[in-house]
Amino acid sequence: MTFSLTDYNPYDFANRRHIGPAPAEMAQMLETLGLPSLDALIDRTVPQGIRQSEPLDFGDPQSERNVLRTMREIAERNKGMKSLIGQGYYGTLTPPVIQRNILENPAWYTAYTPYQPEISQGRLEALLNFQTMISDLTGLEVANASLLDEATAAAEAMTMAQRGAKSKATGFFVDQRCHPQTIDVIRTRAEPLGIEVIVGDPFTDLAPEAVFAAIFQYPGTYGHVHDFTAPIEKLHAAKALGILAADPLALCLLKSPGEMDADIAVGSTQRFGVPMGYGGPHAAYMACKDAFKRAMPGRLIGVSVDARGNKAYRLSLQTREQHIRREKATSNVCTAQALLAVMASMYGIYYGPDGLKAIAQSVHRKTVRLATGLEKLGFEVKPERFFDTITVEVGALQGVILNAAVAGGVNLRKIGTTRIGISCDEVTYPETVEAVWRAFGGEMTYRDSDRPYRLPDENLRETKYMTHPIFHMNRAEAEITRYMRRLADRDLALDRAMIPLGSCTMKLNATVEMIPVTWPEFSDVHPFAPADQVEGYTHLIQDLSAKLCAITGYDALSMQPNSGAQGEYAGLLTIRAYHKARKEGHRNVCLIPMSAHGTNPASAQMVGWKVVVVKSAENGDIDVEDFRAKAEANAENLAACMITYPSTHGVFEDTVREVCEITHQHGGQVYIDGANMNAMVGIAQPGDIGGDVSHLNLHKTFCIPHGGGGPGMGPIGVKAHLEPYLPGHCHMGGSGAVSAAPFGSPSILPISYAYILAMGGEGLTQATRVAILNANYIAKRLSGAFKVLYTNPTGDVAHECILDIRPLTEAAGVTVDDVAKRLIDCGFHAPTMSWPVPGTLMVEPTESEPKAELDRFIDAMLAIRAEADDIAEGRIDAENNPLKNAPHTVEDLVGDWERPYTREQACYPPGAFRVDKYWAPVNRVDNAYGDRHLVCTCPPLESYSEAAE
Ligand SMILES: *Cc1c(COP(=O)(O)O)cnc(C)c1O
Repeated sequence: MTFSLTDYNPYDFANRRHIGPAPAEMAQMLETLGLPSLDALIDRTVPQGIRQSEPLDFGDPQSERNVLRTMREIAERNKGMKSLIGQGYYGTLTPPVIQRNILENPAWYTAYTPYQPEISQGRLEALLNFQTMISDLTGLEVANASLLDEATAAAEAMTMAQRGAKSKATGFFVDQRCHPQTIDVIRTRAEPLGIEVIVGDPFTDLAPEAVFAAIFQYPGTYGHVHDFTAPIEKLHAAKALGILAADPLALCLLKSPGEMDADIAVGSTQRFGVPMGYGGPHAAYMACKDAFKRAMPGRLIGVSVDARGNKAYRLSLQTREQHIRREKATSNVCTAQALLAVMASMYGIYYGPDGLKAIAQSVHRKTVRLATGLEKLGFEVKPERFFDTITVEVGALQGVILNAAVAGGVNLRKIGTTRIGISCDEVTYPETVEAVWRAFGGEMTYRDSDRPYRLPDENLRETKYMTHPIFHMNRAEAEITRYMRRLADRDLALDRAMIPLGSCTMKLNATVEMIPVTWPEFSDVHPFAPADQVEGYTHLIQDLSAKLCAITGYDALSMQPNSGAQGEYAGLLTIRAYHKARKEGHRNVCLIPMSAHGTNPASAQMVGWKVVVVKSAENGDIDVEDFRAKAEANAENLAACMITYPSTHGVFEDTVREVCEITHQHGGQVYIDGANMNAMVGIAQPGDIGGDVSHLNLHKTFCIPHGGGGPGMGPIGVKAHLEPYLPGHCHMGGSGAVSAAPFGSPSILPISYAYILAMGGEGLTQATRVAILNANYIAKRLSGAFKVLYTNPTGDVAHECILDIRPLTEAAGVTVDDVAKRLIDCGFHAPTMSWPVPGTLMVEPTESEPKAELDRFIDAMLAIRAEADDIAEGRIDAENNPLKNAPHTVEDLVGDWERPYTREQACYPPGAFRVDKYWAPVNRVDNAYGDRHLVCTCPPLESYSEAAE
């Protein structure tokens, strides 16, 4: 046999990784649409007046090898150091079993937020474990399933306390020993709401009558461990609430917030196995007394039952959320930190309470030894009693010692001009302690002799925690590996099937993009490390910002917001500051179309604005006349409008420039929600069509995975006139922070950066074109069976389409829920349900899906339509049918079968794989039951040993 030599390059193949349909398939799809080319489709769908004139130019697409080489070069420009800076961020070891099986496992990281409980039982259980762990450690009844970071959690606690406290005072007291970034974020949040922030010493400066609540840090940022029982009692006497920001590792040894009668506790679970990552992502937590649970922000996992009465998990109390309550929502938090909360919960399971306690003790012992050594060297260590953090007054020696420490590979914390702070952690080794001593001028050997504790006796913890069997698993790795695998198998994520979620772009998270995330050069970096140690990150952030500016048509970008909703909040604050600077601070009206995402009105409310809702026209577009009338009526006070482009109705409206002009004419600024940017990259630019500011969801358009509900990144791009008003950060010598860390969650930025390198400008543009092709192909093929609610005048959609289910409801009683649950039988995650129009499904396939997967979905939907017809025409019972009984489980098949359809039809509808069939682990979950009988911690059932069998 001989080989024929061709010029075929195997690496060209890799450049197609993001584009689902093969070229020949695209040709077939275009034929279905009756169009000669992809360009013809784009010409028809995207109005000429908004098209981008210059193509994106980021050089050639890079092969995987080159992408990794570039990422390596960048990574190596970050210096590997031991950081004992503390201030809310600590070294930790991610147990390898968790790193590989959760963090690096697409079954976990490609999952969507668990809105469809039947296909999310695995991550729901993991998050319930997280809630249980937090509830136990804090000694409070209810915990949520994560918030974005400790500082924003503290700000959320402030507004929650204002809702919950009986005191009508307008002040909020902040412990001067809170982390500086927490104080910064609280101030930012308080100002537009008219809350007066009073920073001081809880034991001397607190005037309870003047405040509705107070927050204390436990242990304090400089190491103090106080008992806050007395100040909390004083607060309660004045009908005000007490909040503790508490380190969960310290709580393994110290009296819990609940035992001090705190009402709310917040904190970061970063040191539970989640690397620092130059600031994030990690999961913050919030816990509260039962009485306040309905006022709590963020997602709350609860226990309910399924149609068979079996235990099933679900998201509970969703009526608190912005999707329903809009500007009256408890907060705008949507994407949070699910994946990181799962990691922290697994860390808790991996070590159990005894292991966690041992880690806490070891951290404390190291700190005691470190302190004793420094005292031997003649330094005065403060405070006398501490957990893991001490400070030393060094006077004029500060610079010399800090530099000597850096020379020895260790970062210490600079406090003022004469003090140094040191925090020990899980990965502080004897050599680390010796290096610190050396920096202070002492050559000593670390000896493992016993030292007395230096924790305050009155604060030692005596109550138990994490007593649930889940935290007492056999410590063999086999056990936890299988547990993680079992949970993953219960869920349907992108690694198994398309997740056609309108608005929440669920596209490929390519493996090559994920690889650098766990490199230590990116993960083991403290957010407050000196600038000369983070040149890699600085380059990555600057270059990614420049590329995102080029893509969006904006002039400047802030990487601080940790999610889309935080981007909205940051963007509106930026607009607000701009108006203020121009002496137009009275502007406080925000025009928002009725179809807007719930986070839009919720964010507007957070900056103290009044929301005026604009109608949609019959064809789904913004009603321009209504918009104009409301802009005119509010011209005096118009602050901004918030629009989404292409619209949440899945159409490129050609009136968008007009809407922007009307807003500008009346003195307002234009916020364009960038969640739909996947329909625009390379083709149109929000900064060009009239936007002044937009957020991007890097976890939608730019390939950061959703992680089952977070992490995310929501950077904002702005026009030059807004640049001076972007959020600052205390660590950068500024103020106005919206996140704990200056650049949000930098350790996931390599994902978006690698995506852009891999695609090049043309590749990114091609992804947009194919996203539009895939959506139009689905819309066309399904248009005979379902009405596509909104199209442009030529009958085309943008990157998503809304299918009307209401005719089926009328004719056959089949609801969106029935269709969504039946899709589970077919092996699909449901599209977005009943948003932006009730009774509809919004389908967004993205460019990543091959034609075969689109066809599988189309087959499933057509079969569902036929089943609805069977009901409508009386061929099958209206209550007992495959749609109402969906999803079907293995439980349904065992025993007698007394249904008017076959087992075959139940389990193998069109679309379902035979061998690789996805089996829902529970039948349809009863939502009302779950809210009536709210259980938000692990139920004390034998179900765990059952599941382990
Ligand atoms: C996803 C989304 C948001 C919110 O983004 P998060 O990252 O979840 O906070 C806002 N607007 C629209 C249109 C979205 O689709």
